[in-house]
Amino acid sequence: MSEALTPTNFIRTIIEEDVAAGKNEGQVITRFPPEPNGYLHIGHAKSICLNFGLARDFGGRCHLRFDDTNPVKEDVEYVESIQNDVRWLGFDWGEHLHYASDYFERLFEYAVMLIRKGSAYVCSLSADEIRQYRGTLTEPGKESPYRKRSIEENLDLFQRMRAGEFEEGAHVLRAKIDMASPNIVLRDPTLYRIRKAVHHRTGTTWCIYPMYDFAHCLSDAIEGITHSICTLEFENNRALYDWVIDQVNPPRRPRQYEFARLNLTYTVLSKRKLIRLVQEKHVEGWDDPRMPTLSGLRRRGVPPEAIRNFCDRIGLARRDSVVDVALLEHCIREYLNETALRVMAVLKPLKLIIENFPEDRVEMLDAPYYPDRPELGSRPLPFTRELFIETDDFLEAPPKKFFRLAPDREVRLRYAYFVRCIGVEKNPQTGAIETIRCTYDPETRGGGAPDGRKVKATLHWVSASHGRPAQVRLYNHLFTRPDPDDVLEGGDFTESLNPQSRQVLDNAWIEPALIQARAGERFQFERLGYFCVDEKDSLPNRPVYNRIVTLRDEWEKIRKQSPAT
Ligand code: ATP
Ligand code: MG
Repeated sequence: MSEALTPTNFIRTIIEEDVAAGKNEGQVITRFPPEPNGYLHIGHAKSICLNFGLARDFGGRCHLRFDDTNPVKEDVEYVESIQNDVRWLGFDWGEHLHYASDYFERLFEYAVMLIRKGSAYVCSLSADEIRQYRGTLTEPGKESPYRKRSIEENLDLFQRMRAGEFEEGAHVLRAKIDMASPNIVLRDPTLYRIRKAVHHRTGTTWCIYPMYDFAHCLSDAIEGITHSICTLEFENNRALYDWVIDQVNPPRRPRQYEFARLNLTYTVLSKRKLIRLVQEKHVEGWDDPRMPTLSGLRRRGVPPEAIRNFCDRIGLARRDSVVDVALLEHCIREYLNETALRVMAVLKPLKLIIENFPEDRVEMLDAPYYPDRPELGSRPLPFTRELFIETDDFLEAPPKKFFRLAPDREVRLRYAYFVRCIGVEKNPQTGAIETIRCTYDPETRGGGAPDGRKVKATLHWVSASHGRPAQVRLYNHLFTRPDPDDVLEGGDFTESLNPQSRQVLDNAWIEPALIQARAGERFQFERLGYFCVDEKDSLPNRPVYNRIVTLRDEWEKIRKQSPAT
């Protein structure tokens, strides 16, 4: 399936104009800058598709840069998972895998340069005092008593901070900007702090670490990034970004642009919250198929193409909004509808015995993998005396609108014959229905009757003797509230976790064509949804299938109700 051309957006327009004006010699160099302190989620996918997509479409390049300036929260496990996930999404950074930590020495030199220019000073207020001195939105801040330290003293102290002479919190390096600025970000922001921690790449080489606002813009400058695209919460930081760049005056000046981050209904996308879900074992790990992480979506069976299409569809705005998760599901269905083989499986099996079908006979039917396009292939489907149908497809006392199987009623078995129910057998103790007795009409092979009589339902089924057992896992939203981030005061987002977000069916039955299925393969189980073979828990004789999505698409309905989306 071909992907539609990427729709345009305000950042694309800016870049087109820059290229037309010959800015940066017409080059477009972007970067995706994750902090390796968690797994990537679908929100990051929006940023990845944007940054790599722009670079691709303008003949430029996109760097993958780890913003690893906080040794306390970062880990190589995350570094590896992030690379995997970006590759899986379909993007390639080529030679340009970078780490902010590779620039620590240069960043230190830039900091020294700022001190020499009188633009930065070592401040010895405590963290609390710094906060008090900062002022508020309505009141200006107060200058630090250390602001007037001489350049020599600042240089000496900063060197000694680096040498490890001081404890954490004893000093910080601050930019000397304006304590009365209406933009609080500009009130002498901290540039460096002491952290006596082991860094996952630089070990104990450093005990001072640059702050995001200092490291990020300078990393962009070092790499020659032309368009530095980030989410809206950094809008106020742009002034500081520009201030630092002005101070350093690099040969090529990067510019920051902001867009609205992705929010999704029934989903949390903050790493802090996702980490809690994992650590508090509300889910079974970062790759739990209910997680909005890329590893969770992948394990569930979501194709990367569907995520890319979704990212194109949601567009790009400068105003925060919430996207309905039904749109993501719609994009997944749209892709799988084109690609997934149609097969049959029974989730909750109910035995059906065809009395007039010989016990030892196996009739091989030919069933198309794509019923609408039979030319694309088929598989042999064994029809036998004993079959399984879905427990929910039979009712002993059917209400008016139930058209499926019931006593004395005839239905069609998909690709096979008409069968009529002539009796049921129940468990003598519990009264539960255990077996349906039927007859079949040999004249209806292929599913039509020569006398023209009609049936109102077609059921899926699997041969009891030729099928195989499987476990099937059905998923629902992880949260019961569409806005799980919106918690009452004193409340916690975990309170709206959905206790029914996962249902495990241990006795499912799959048709023989599925026996060879490999981990990660995706199918449509007719009438039930799209499923994927679990890559972790499947056993050779007992595959595990994750339901990716159901067949029911809510998106068109939702879209019609609120045309604005
Ligand atoms: P979180 O707020 O979940 O902790 P983050 O922004 O701290 O995420 P980073 O690793 O810093 O995570 O993010 C890397 C890039 O991905 C940044 O440019 C960030 O703006 C972008 N990004 C993160 N979350 C989203 C989102 N929900 N939608 C779009 N872009 C996002
Ligand atoms: Mg961040």
